[in-house]
Amino acid sequence: MSGPSSDELVVRDGYFFGRSCACAPPTPWWRPETKCASDDETLRRGPRLLNTFTKTKVPFVPLSGNSVGWYICGPTVYDSAHVGHARNYVNFDVLRRVMSEYFGYDVRFVMNVTDIDDKIIMRAHTRRAQDVVESARRLGAKASAETIAAAAETETLLAEGGKPLGKLDELTRGLVERVRVDAKGALASDDACARDWKIQDGYLELAREFEAEFMEDMKSLGIARPDALTRVSEYVDKVILYIQVIINKGFAYESNNSVYFDVKAFEEAENHKYGKLNKNAMANVEEAMDGEGALAAEKSEKRSEFDFVLWKASKSGEPSWSSPWGMGRPGWHIECSAMCSDVLGKSVDINGGGIDLNFPHHENQLAQSEAHYDIEQWVNFFIHTGHLHIDGLKMSKSLKNFITIRAALKMYSARQIRFLFLLNQWCDPMELTPVAAADGSGVTGFKQMEMALNIEKQFTEFFHSVKGSLRESGSYVVQKDQMWDGHERNLSDALDTAQAAVHEALMDNINTPNTLLALQDLVKATNQYLSMTLTDTRPLLVERVAKYVTKILSCLGVCLDVESIGFPESTEGSSEGREQVLSPFLDLITKFRDDIRKLAQDGASKQDILAACDAVRDVSLPELGVKVDDREGGALWKLYDAEELKKEIAREREAKEEKERAKAAAKDEAARKAAEKEAKAKVPPSEMFKTFEEYAGLYSKFGDDGVPTHDAEGEPLQKSALKKLAKARGMQEKAHDQYLAKQGIEKLSV
Ligand SMILES: [Zn+2]
Repeated sequence: MSGPSSDELVVRDGYFFGRSCACAPPTPWWRPETKCASDDETLRRGPRLLNTFTKTKVPFVPLSGNSVGWYICGPTVYDSAHVGHARNYVNFDVLRRVMSEYFGYDVRFVMNVTDIDDKIIMRAHTRRAQDVVESARRLGAKASAETIAAAAETETLLAEGGKPLGKLDELTRGLVERVRVDAKGALASDDACARDWKIQDGYLELAREFEAEFMEDMKSLGIARPDALTRVSEYVDKVILYIQVIINKGFAYESNNSVYFDVKAFEEAENHKYGKLNKNAMANVEEAMDGEGALAAEKSEKRSEFDFVLWKASKSGEPSWSSPWGMGRPGWHIECSAMCSDVLGKSVDINGGGIDLNFPHHENQLAQSEAHYDIEQWVNFFIHTGHLHIDGLKMSKSLKNFITIRAALKMYSARQIRFLFLLNQWCDPMELTPVAAADGSGVTGFKQMEMALNIEKQFTEFFHSVKGSLRESGSYVVQKDQMWDGHERNLSDALDTAQAAVHEALMDNINTPNTLLALQDLVKATNQYLSMTLTDTRPLLVERVAKYVTKILSCLGVCLDVESIGFPESTEGSSEGREQVLSPFLDLITKFRDDIRKLAQDGASKQDILAACDAVRDVSLPELGVKVDDREGGALWKLYDAEELKKEIAREREAKEEKERAKAAAKDEAARKAAEKEAKAKVPPSEMFKTFEEYAGLYSKFGDDGVPTHDAEGEPLQKSALKKLAKARGMQEKAHDQYLAKQGIEKLSV
């Protein structure tokens, strides 16, 4: 599609967009026109989404029919992903699920992996150099003086940051040769020096390793895989062609074997505008150059300081590909333009990423693509997820190990982590405060998780109660009354209210905190219904409510089934599956029967039998993920994930211990205060003004009753002061009398 000409004014749904409009958004943005939307707007009208173009929430309309082309900027794979990444990708997973599962769009979700990048190249070199130095150290006494010196020199350069890479590469190669000579061919096959290495393969080895780890982390977090994954390393040829088109159109130029985007030429073109996402794009050169990478070239190559690199001439120690401009590699921004265009074409419904990518990455990505196609608007909706701020991260380097996704998943389940993110609106910034272990050994959790744990528990309990109720009453039996009375009508009204509130929340920029609030209200109403009706429930209604809650939570990615294809597999038919499922429970019940029989045969006491029953409830069943709640009319069992249940029990125990500790501390404090009070009461009132600390040095003369008459300077005290002191004496007298009475001593007359 193309936008209207510059003097045109677009009016849609009360939104005025266009360059000539006084109330136009900060930058020109045109609402997508669609055949589908004009045919039946009410049907296809999507939620209002916060669009970075306008900085307002605008109704989503797809470019064509029901399909939505969606690109998100994926990871640069050079290190382990941390909870900040988790928030970004969980948020996009939620947005994607809601758009496809709740709003029913046919979403094509594309994500890239940046596997050619300065950080990857640097890390590949430094890791190789560290491995080779390590190998040299292992030589021990076999190492020659030259080898020791070469290893030291390599280490020094590493300590200084490892740059220039060409130098590091040269040193590492030299060291490999020396180690090989010293080892006389006796190197282990997995020794770094035993194999040849060059950066052209080495960068990819590192990138693939972290890509695999990243995808594994995403799976653990319950994040659906993208429909298409684009890697720069597979796209170099297409990136070159893409750049060539931009040069041909006059928006890029070659300089010193690199290619730069010509911001001025683009800005001056009639149908283009730079800085659509960021009004101040041209204000800060330093920030604009943020995406150029740690191995950036001299700026003297560029016509203007705002021009950014599309193709980088490779320097020594960097991987390189042949191009019309010499050996080099793609710049960062261009990959997303080329790869996104390749899969989604000339127009894109949604482009997303973390807010930190807004500038310069997305601004440049947009300019490149609009220059390539020579169109006014390439992307219709730019959506950015909010930043996750981790308290204290800058202060402590070691904290980094505790905030990786893997570390977080050791402390909490993926579902709990997702609840945490759902409790915060996806586009808002968010704080995360690590809680340090008492013994300083690391991090035990995150402060903000408490609310997420509570809400998870609330839903878990709800599903257990519903399942328990349906188990008891059956979902439908012909013998049972089905007619509704007041209780059912109330619950049905609560369902209507929740459905309307959820729809409103999701329409409003996919507001997940409000969606959860609406579901929580429905959960409360259902719990109330179940407690009032007990066994006389209307299971059809209860089932309907529970299915609705499940559906919405599933749209948020919370109630996850494994991602399977085809008909569900049944374990009932195969005896192997059945045996596997039943074994631990049959073992338990058989052992319990044996124990009880033995107790009975030995004439054990009632307490012993009850203790055996409690042990099944408190120890054996939780091991299998079963929690048993004692209640009137028979206990209720609830099935959990065994690991999660163990963690929950441990957390409950910890909370209980903490409470007991606090109680004991409060008791100590009360005892200390009582002792202090008693020590004070022991002092006769006539002595109090001479002994109590608070009166020390304040007075110089005292009356017969011990009450001060003159201040420290020898001046007589005012009447009001005397009155106050007499009152204090009166109170002490009372306390002292009580003390004496307690001691059983008769008050002596003065
Ligand atoms: Zn990108």
